Amino acid sequence: MSNIQQTLSIIKPDAVERNLDSEIKEIFINKGFKIVKEKKIQLTKSEAEQFYKVHETKPFYNDLCSYLSSGPILVMILEKENAVLANREVMGATNPKDANEGTIRKKFGISIDKNSVHGSDSIDNATIEINFFFKD
Ligand code: UDP
Ligand code: MG
Repeated sequence: MSNIQQTLSIIKPDAVERNLDSEIKEIFINKGFKIVKEKKIQLTKSEAEQFYKVHETKPFYNDLCSYLSSGPILVMILEKENAVLANREVMGATNPKDANEGTIRKKFGISIDKNSVHGSDSIDNATIEINFFFKD
């Protein structure tokens, strides 16, 4: 049975700054994702705080929100069979040091905070995150 899903992907400031967006998009396309929508934007600090609200009690929350709003990001809706999990697999572990060979974070991540990409972690959060950026 087919299980086509959509998930939200963000190419974070460290990767956009290094002009890695086309290379990262190509990885998704080669893995069979369709890029349904995309836009390059820069968030305000307060928008980043809203986006990462689930992490508001974490010690890294403030730095994380400053970082996400520090430069342009490329936001995409990715579509594929089991897209939520498939995207997490292509991204690799949160800390690039722990990420598997061939993953985006292994290839491009600089550190646990500058780890190049964001991806929704569940179907429910994918819907929430897609609506956050593409409500029209
Ligand atoms: N993060 C951080 N320090 C940590 C854990 C996470 O700076 O100790 C950042 C990192 O950029 C990560 C983001 O916070 O991508 C969100 O954390 P989460 O645990 O949701 O990881 P992800 O879902 O992005 O793999
Ligand atoms: Mg997460």
